[in-house]
Amino acid sequence: MIRNVTLTSWNTFDVNLDGYENVHLDFLYDGEVIPTREISRTDKTISYFIDGDIEILGHDVVIETFENGSFPLIVTNAPDFHDFDNRYYYSGELGPIYSKEFTEFRIWAPLASSGYLLLEGFEIPLKRIENGVFNAFVDGDMDGKSYLYLLKINGEDVLVADPYAKACNANGKKSFVVDLNKVNIDMFDENLPQMNSYLDAIIYEGHVRDLTIDDSTDIENKGKFAGLIEKGRKTKCGNPAGFDYFLSLGFTHLQLLPVLDYFTVDEEYPENGYNWGYDPYHFFCLEGSYSLNPNDPYSRILEFKKLVRAFHKSGVRINLDVVYNHVYRVKDSLFEQITPNYFFRKDRHNKLQDRSGCGNDFASERPMARKMIVDSIKHLLNVYHVDGFRFDLMGLIDIDTMKEIEKVVHEIKPDCMLYGEGWNMMAETYYHNELATMENASKIPNIAFFNDRYRNIVRGPGGRAHLDEKGYLLGNEDYFEGFKFVYPGSCFDLAFPKLFNNLNQSLNYVECHDNATLYDALKNTLEDVSEEELIRYVRMINKTLLLSFGIPFVHAGQEIGMSKFNNHNSYNAGDHVNKFSYDLLDKRYNLSRSFACYCATRKGARILKTTSLDEIGKNVNYEELDDILHVSIHDKLNFHIFINPFDEGKRVHLDKRVDFYFPFGYHKVVEQNFKSEIDIPPHSCQVFYEEKDNA
Ligand code: CA
Repeated sequence: MIRNVTLTSWNTFDVNLDGYENVHLDFLYDGEVIPTREISRTDKTISYFIDGDIEILGHDVVIETFENGSFPLIVTNAPDFHDFDNRYYYSGELGPIYSKEFTEFRIWAPLASSGYLLLEGFEIPLKRIENGVFNAFVDGDMDGKSYLYLLKINGEDVLVADPYAKACNANGKKSFVVDLNKVNIDMFDENLPQMNSYLDAIIYEGHVRDLTIDDSTDIENKGKFAGLIEKGRKTKCGNPAGFDYFLSLGFTHLQLLPVLDYFTVDEEYPENGYNWGYDPYHFFCLEGSYSLNPNDPYSRILEFKKLVRAFHKSGVRINLDVVYNHVYRVKDSLFEQITPNYFFRKDRHNKLQDRSGCGNDFASERPMARKMIVDSIKHLLNVYHVDGFRFDLMGLIDIDTMKEIEKVVHEIKPDCMLYGEGWNMMAETYYHNELATMENASKIPNIAFFNDRYRNIVRGPGGRAHLDEKGYLLGNEDYFEGFKFVYPGSCFDLAFPKLFNNLNQSLNYVECHDNATLYDALKNTLEDVSEEELIRYVRMINKTLLLSFGIPFVHAGQEIGMSKFNNHNSYNAGDHVNKFSYDLLDKRYNLSRSFACYCATRKGARILKTTSLDEIGKNVNYEELDDILHVSIHDKLNFHIFINPFDEGKRVHLDKRVDFYFPFGYHKVVEQNFKSEIDIPPHSCQVFYEEKDNA
């Protein structure tokens, strides 16, 4: 019996058999017989050469056999053939191209032999135009019309939504044509403060749903885009909640966990599920579970634009966490369904590579995969006016893709932030493509990296394996030299070889959505400490973070020592674990005010935002004063930071008499005058400006 017939190169194919058998066949190409000849055979395979210079892809090919009837030609190997990308790379616009008079629908489907656009149930034949692209022109105003594609691939019908759709209904089942001019609202970009470098940023990471889902506020649209911008909302104790609270902290950039469409939460019944959203599905549509009306294709677009606008209006930028390194399941990926064997990396055994730990790795180095990523980013910038991108597992994305992104993004928005997780995931098959890992930081100087060295040295290594390992700020003196390495942005050859050449590449953090929260990590690592002491640690570590060189990054709730009940990977653990707790905020409201002061202090400290390594090398000095770390920074106003990570309070004697100001933001508050000794309580970070004599 013949099992199947597969294309093995641009002009050869195999007939695969269960066992030795004679085969007589006709190769029918769009219904015409093309001559072929047998070139080799084994018991289970007969190989044929196709005579004549014909383009196989995009044509209806049937192998008609005398013995077993007809077989479609399986073309799934084609993406691995020599020259595939030269033949089929398409640089033009994809998706629906809308105007009031007509809409052109374009889809890249090089392996499809034919197809239909299913527009509101009508079948409209697609025409194959160039480089594997099909199109259809439809006259009239198609605004709001739903559509799908029915493609013939390997002789089978494949029904798919448009992977380049800009709008969809609930769960991305159907694509919709939208007129984006209808949602062209003023985004208040002009209200944003000037950004000279990434070092002006203070990034606050949060999940749309977590930030407002807690019952303990009067926010109306809890868990939605709309809920995050409700003004005047209060906690039970009357403290500001939601939008007002987050603005009160004084960070500059709100980084949202994925807001592009993801797979696993049922958008019509979001209360039945929970996910962080690292299971991407549509790359040009937003997640519908955050929308007030997921079945209205315009609703989520407008609601998210209003969210960005509201923050912009208040001078705060929005960064998006984007997930281009893997998908939820390959078989559900629209890209894989439309062009099997193209968009995902294979290992040496020709199995899906899985360095992401999510079952698959997106093949960013393939030109059409790279184009999709770049097009998606451009769409987010142009339509939603977002201000930065955090790349999930950026270390799996090839460096040329990141360079292309950087070029395109900074042409559109020069101060747009680009940063990501540069972990080296040991992606084995891409030895010929360099990846955007932290080791390669010098090759992509305008892209920043999550600096896990900072976290490990300041707080202690993350992960369950290292729960009892303390960082410097938890009183581990062994990390003193390490602290001196990470404090100035990991940019100097000191205890370790420098990680970065640029200060604006070091994104410093001690907590993010992954792994234990700061509070939980402290609780795990420190023994027999009271709640009050834990809070002192939270205060000291957050303050030190905000006063370090590099880009400070904090996770929502870190400012008040929020717990996730020791759940180290709460991606689907539900609201009770993940929610921002407003009861805890009420309990520790003062702690949030302290955090706001650290943000204000940082904003006011010019030297913390200098991009000059030379300046830091010359002007930052460290000394140990009886176990206290004294960092003195020479600037117009000298800046003094005293860190006491130990259990005993200390009195520090300075060899000269200086006037100190506590720098509280832009205002200097005179607290201690003419002191040559200062008390540094245990587990505290104290910061002062030194008043110089007026010359
Ligand atoms: Ca979804």
